Amino acid sequence: MTAKASVSFLEEALAENFGFDTFKGSQEAIIQSLFDGKDTFVIMPTGGGKSLCYQLPGIMMEGCALVISPLIALMKNQVDSIRSHGESDEIAHFLNSSLSKTQMRQVKEDITSGKTKLLFVAPETLTKEENIEFFREARISFVAIDEAHCISEWGHDFRPEYRRIREMLDLIGHNIPIIALTATATPKVQSDIVKNLRMGEDHNTFVSSFNRDNLYYEVRPKGKKEYTFRQIIKIVKEMPDQSGIIYVQSRKSAEEIAQALVVNGVKAAPYHAGLDPKTRSRTQDQFLMEDVDVICATIAFGMGIDKPDVRFVMHYDIPKSIENYYQETGRAGRDGLGGRCIAFYAYKDILKLEKFLRDKPLMEREMGAQLMQEVMAYSETTACRRRFLLHYFGEEYDEVNCNKMCDNCRHPRERVEVTQSVVEALQAVKTLDENYPLKTLTEFVLGKETKQMKDYGFTDLPGFGSGKDKEDVFWSSVFRQALLNNLVRKDIESYGTLKLTKEGEAFLKKPYTFEIPIDHDFEKELADDMRGEADDAKAVVLDETLLLALKDLRKKEAKRLGIPPFVIF
Ligand code: ADP
Ligand code: MG
Ligand code: ZN
Repeated sequence: MTAKASVSFLEEALAENFGFDTFKGSQEAIIQSLFDGKDTFVIMPTGGGKSLCYQLPGIMMEGCALVISPLIALMKNQVDSIRSHGESDEIAHFLNSSLSKTQMRQVKEDITSGKTKLLFVAPETLTKEENIEFFREARISFVAIDEAHCISEWGHDFRPEYRRIREMLDLIGHNIPIIALTATATPKVQSDIVKNLRMGEDHNTFVSSFNRDNLYYEVRPKGKKEYTFRQIIKIVKEMPDQSGIIYVQSRKSAEEIAQALVVNGVKAAPYHAGLDPKTRSRTQDQFLMEDVDVICATIAFGMGIDKPDVRFVMHYDIPKSIENYYQETGRAGRDGLGGRCIAFYAYKDILKLEKFLRDKPLMEREMGAQLMQEVMAYSETTACRRRFLLHYFGEEYDEVNCNKMCDNCRHPRERVEVTQSVVEALQAVKTLDENYPLKTLTEFVLGKETKQMKDYGFTDLPGFGSGKDKEDVFWSSVFRQALLNNLVRKDIESYGTLKLTKEGEAFLKKPYTFEIPIDHDFEKELADDMRGEADDAKAVVLDETLLLALKDLRKKEAKRLGIPPFVIF
């Protein structure tokens, strides 16, 4: 037998405190960086094991680690989990507005006496003067900033107080390392975090791959409510007793879908900001305990929830950004086993979201619109979805590795040769001085005589309308594929204008054969789908009064009364 490689002192501590044999990914190097006293920046996908990167050194180092975290629920979840591993309850505490004065005093005593190794605080708590005073005197080992994307307006859940963390740390005044952790990898968010936290020149950055190869990505056309509800119920029933989350944008949809599932014998519950905290926390516990299988939630659910065996994540409403989508789908298959990620997409929903943006300040509106353009591109693409997602996060990925783990790889579309069209597209980018986004460029080649085209005199430029014999979807496909293949790049700072890359210039000089699949035309696909639905299914209506009556009956044991629970199908 070969001798086992020697176990490092960190590995020993890992086994002792958490019962794990090995570190995941770069956890060990990250922890080592903290021990070296370096500012440390960790970009690791959801489920990658970020918490351990500060929990373990927190337990090991002298003093107490300060962990800044955006949500009370998230802190509670972590404190419970550390206590379950640790020897005493005092080892981890949180300090936030949910505590009484007496409880706060106790927490501070435990820190002073050295019992507490990890303290979770909200950024608001940090800004309170009496706390700053206290932290200034206390022995702090290092500061961890979890969910650090909250610092950036380009992150999916921007929290203004997060921008003041640096200011507070300066007031507290220890010269200790900080570790910032996030699952958001877009270059813009990253640079915002480093800048705002003023991380040291020699800080270490650890970026893990964002590929989750056990997740299957799929987009389906979203039709009328009844149609889509039936699809959802069908999919959920294909996976009996499995845990899943269905994300929606409105409280009403959360309630309705949960109810429709319950009537169909699925243990489902709604979760949204309109429910009181007690109910919400009960629902969350029930989900963890598997008394509830499916949660129909607005985005208020799931951040930091650690349930390893979530088998599916559906989006009834399209999310507002790819970051959101990636984070939310990331909650599936944390245990490494399968996870299905299905998004229902209708162009109408994009328009609805755009309407919400209309009253926002200019900056926010432009930003929101651009994030949504990406979601739209993701939904409509016929390229490998995994490749699209990873490209978005700045990672090159060869789709042959997808292993048919997305709908587009599993059911590939016929490819069309578009070499000449790519030339025309890139030429248009040049003609318009690399100053316009995809939408304007598409309108230009299509020869749309919009007000903008006329006002700017674009209608007289060479190439205007050169592609008018083709459809919109053809040209947006060409531009998006040019993006995916790095012939052009999108400049986020200037509202998503397309710029030619070196590769693009080279292509113009010497074009090579370029074949692409054309994007989905969802309106048409939906019409085909609806036609294909069995007649008997169509005859069933999700009537609200029927739903209510059924819910009532269920309470009185529908079965005993001889009422079949599966009435909808
Ligand atoms: P993140 O914050 O990156 O989304 P978590 O910190 O919640 O991820 O960790 C995800 C899961 O991975 C948790 O169930 C955690 O217990 C587990 N995990 C973390 N590190 C290890 C390890 N070294 N070995 C085994 N499991 C681990
Ligand atoms: Mg986390
Ligand atoms: Zn794929």
